[in-house]
Amino acid sequence: MRLLAVLAATCAAAAAFPHSRPPFHRPRHEKIDVAVIGAGPGGSSTAYYLKQFGGSRYDVTVFERNDYVGGRSTTVNIHDDDDYPVELGASIFITENYILQAAVAKFGLDLVDGDFSDPDPNAVPLGVFNGRNFTFVEVDDYSVEEAFGIDPVLATYSTADYVVGQFLQWYNPGVLPIADLSALNAASNLTQATGQYATGLYGNSSFVNVLVSGATRVNYASSIDDITGMGATLTLSGSGDYAVAGGNRQIFKKMVSHSDADLKLETTVVSVYRNNITKKWDVTYWKQDDREIKIKSFDRVVVAAPWYQTGIIMDVANPPENVPYRELWVTIFTTRARPDPTRFGLARGEMVPDSIFTNDFGFTGYTAAGLPQFLSFNIVDYLKEKHEYVYKVFTYQNLSDSDVRAFFANGTKITWTTRKFWNPYPVLSPVTDFGAWEVADGLYYPSIMERFGSCMETAALAGANVAALMVAKDGTNTTAIEL
Ligand SMILES: Cc1cc2nc3c(=O)[nH]c(=O)nc-3n(C[C@H](O)[C@H](O)[C@H](O)COP(=O)(O)OP(=O)(O)OC[C@H]3O[C@@H](n4cnc5c(N)ncnc54)[C@H](O)[C@@H]3O)c2cc1C
Repeated sequence: MRLLAVLAATCAAAAAFPHSRPPFHRPRHEKIDVAVIGAGPGGSSTAYYLKQFGGSRYDVTVFERNDYVGGRSTTVNIHDDDDYPVELGASIFITENYILQAAVAKFGLDLVDGDFSDPDPNAVPLGVFNGRNFTFVEVDDYSVEEAFGIDPVLATYSTADYVVGQFLQWYNPGVLPIADLSALNAASNLTQATGQYATGLYGNSSFVNVLVSGATRVNYASSIDDITGMGATLTLSGSGDYAVAGGNRQIFKKMVSHSDADLKLETTVVSVYRNNITKKWDVTYWKQDDREIKIKSFDRVVVAAPWYQTGIIMDVANPPENVPYRELWVTIFTTRARPDPTRFGLARGEMVPDSIFTNDFGFTGYTAAGLPQFLSFNIVDYLKEKHEYVYKVFTYQNLSDSDVRAFFANGTKITWTTRKFWNPYPVLSPVTDFGAWEVADGLYYPSIMERFGSCMETAALAGANVAALMVAKDGTNTTAIEL
């Protein structure tokens, strides 16, 4: 009875509009032009998954203002020698980063251990520094347990496993496309909107306040009471620390090349306007070397970069919220020397840990011990042939050459230095409304995912989701979509 009524209504509508065709789903033969702005993990993944989910239906152009693919996944060569690549941005990922791991396997890339393994048998792996001395030093496998007790450690990790387990369900077949990130997040409350901060989730033990907080400062330039539970979970969870031999950005370069997209490097997009006559998006861009401004029309545009850092003039009635990003400097340098223990409040002859986390010792400029303020200080590699250690230091302020020398005995020779200012990740404060993936009709913004959790994998997941949203809009059945 009900079916008959529906059929009757449909026939009546067809009679009234005999030449109308369904307003949804484009005809299958019609190519859809897509501009992807930004070839970081998010944009590369969008292009890659559009090809995976949509085949040859999409003509994708990727615009990237840098001369390389990877975005904040950036590699530099120590001593300008490509035998010695080092990550200047995103450095590690874990086993549970399924998209990255699948891509590494598919593209035949080699994985290396992202953790530094010190050849010095007396090396101390980790310490937490409070600006004057070390509040925790890991001398062996039992140090954490002895310092903090086993219960808070187990409780913290089991909570983290639970939280990450909830998130990993998003990878189940049929979950993508995620139409509403806010609604899905609200179901499990992974950004701790009510408890507000990570301590609400992980408790108030000294393990959390010293070690976990040190880790959140390394990973997100935020202390434990200043970050969402999900942000803290990303620093705690998972197994293994991996990197791609030669640089993580190769994953994204391969994604773009497998997408068959037209990649335009050193090409900056300057404006995106809706053309009211063609109903397309007019993208204006210029290529650095020829300095010629060009315009091309696209059916869809994906802004795969933090919106307010793109410099693009965008004709959008409801732009995304202007989310604050952290600011930090990464300084990488080489020297044959190890740090001077007396500068870190240690006795002469004691080993300065290879990896130093910090507590939130709340000062600017210099520590009580006279060192430049830093968020983390790490030996990340040892160049055997040159007998040089490679150091990476995260600071809020620019670390000058004399600041670098301050970590070492007088007269130490620093053999190579590079530094870069980053807006590395958003301030990960509690959030309930992430905004829309589709900011305007056909204009997508995967970076809303960054406030949920900011890393290469979440950016790649966001790119895959935007691709899934698009193919769903064009009539593809997405129930079988698998990452
Ligand atoms: C120091 C540092 C350490 C990090 N550590 C880790 C880590 O260990 N593990 C991890 O997983 N993640 C880490 N991250 C985070 C990770 O790099 C980011 O989450 C990820 O790169 C975000 O990807 P995205 O594609 O959204 O943005 P991005 O990587 O920023 O890519 C955006 C791209 O858009 C381009 N672009 C912007 N505007 C324009 C324009 N107008 N025209 C053309 N192109 C434009 C940019 O040049 C850039 O290449 C780190 C980041 C930094 C900076």
